[in-house]
Amino acid sequence: MQPLKDPEHILILRETLQRFIEDQMPRHLAREWDEKNEFPREVFDKLAALGVTGLTVPEEYGGSGPDVLATMVTIEELSTRSMAVCSPYIQSACYAGMNLVEVGSEEQKREMLPKVATGEMIFAYGISEPDVGADVASVKTTARRDGDSIVVNGAKRFCSGASFSDYIYTLVRSGDGDNRHGNLSILLIPPDLPGITIELQKSMGLKGSATADVTFQDVRIPASNIMGGEAGWNAGWGQLVGPGLDVEKIEVAAMALGLARAAVEDAWRYAQEREQGGKPICTLQSIRHMLAEVKTQLEACRLMTYHTAALLDAGEDAGVATSMAKLFVSDTAVEIVLTCQRVLGAYGYVREYDMERYVRDVLVMPIIGGSSAVQKNNIANQLRLPR
Ligand SMILES: Cc1cc2nc3c(=O)[nH]c(=O)nc-3n(C[C@H](O)[C@H](O)[C@H](O)COP(=O)(O)OP(=O)(O)OC[C@H]3O[C@@H](n4cnc5c(N)ncnc54)[C@H](O)[C@@H]3O)c2cc1C
Repeated sequence: MQPLKDPEHILILRETLQRFIEDQMPRHLAREWDEKNEFPREVFDKLAALGVTGLTVPEEYGGSGPDVLATMVTIEELSTRSMAVCSPYIQSACYAGMNLVEVGSEEQKREMLPKVATGEMIFAYGISEPDVGADVASVKTTARRDGDSIVVNGAKRFCSGASFSDYIYTLVRSGDGDNRHGNLSILLIPPDLPGITIELQKSMGLKGSATADVTFQDVRIPASNIMGGEAGWNAGWGQLVGPGLDVEKIEVAAMALGLARAAVEDAWRYAQEREQGGKPICTLQSIRHMLAEVKTQLEACRLMTYHTAALLDAGEDAGVATSMAKLFVSDTAVEIVLTCQRVLGAYGYVREYDMERYVRDVLVMPIIGGSSAVQKNNIANQLRLPR
């Protein structure tokens, strides 16, 4: 269970991150990264030097983890300021770190995990395709064996960070389509190989994560790049839906929580500074009620996110709890941020205030990491509601 108070190491982590954010990620830079759709690698490297990219990596591979609670705290704190730093953090520590720990071969772990722990290695996630969204088992990107090589053809869409990653963690169809779940593999594909083109997509928010279309035309990689080694060939489905999937769901909850917290803090402050009729607007009952309501919603989001993180750290089965947290926190964060925007009136709609960015960023939370509808399916199915 989540303790009422953060444990000492989490308090220290929060303080360290909050100092880092004020020093290295000031508001004006966060706005600039958003405007330019830019990943500030040098800031990321300084963040990694704090050791937080090693929170998902066990000590024997150079990290200090796994510590789900501390990882979610890091995601929450970074999300209060910039997705351009937070998204690559998730791609590095979580996608690369957790997936490798879970399904990498011993050789892959020894080679890559120390680099994940130091922040040197970043992964992109190549699951979605132009015709494949929630139904991921339908991927059409193909992989065939050719001696010691694998040849890949197809296209991935919404592949965040592909252009600056070291590997694209790519779900492919490695056999014929009849055996939907038994003919999938995950390949580690370096994005700079001949035959790969990467084109940035223009999205509304989550800037800096550089979401992209990636096409593969006769791309050759060595067979050693099969995730999990030879044993991973045609075993991709099991690798994809392992315990890492539960952590992935609350990564989105932690992002949504951080964004919602930033919006509440800004709205709370603005309402005390902005005067109308000779008095701060926080004295108006309509504003007081909105602020009281978002504080309450935020507290529920916080408790749900960290209760679920604690379940995962304790090794409990958290399939339902993580779906509930992903569903509730991402949907509620949207409500919170939109209410906070109303507190700022016209100033919640213009670029000189961060609220406008929070709105753009939060709207994607119920979509990514399994949509709200998909989480509802998971909850009803896992609780065995008869069909
Ligand atoms: C900014 C951004 C970044 C992203 N980054 C990545 C990334 O790095 N890697 C990656 O692989 N993908 C990424 N995605 C893609 C994201 O994971 C997809 O949005 C997701 O896979 C869902 O696919 P879809 O949006 O095409 O929706 P679809 O699956 O086409 O769904 C459309 C609608 O139908 C509903 N629906 C679909 N299936 C069901 C069902 N079975 N039951 C009930 N309702 C259903 C959905 O809830 C939704 O409302 C990103 C998307 C965005 C916008």
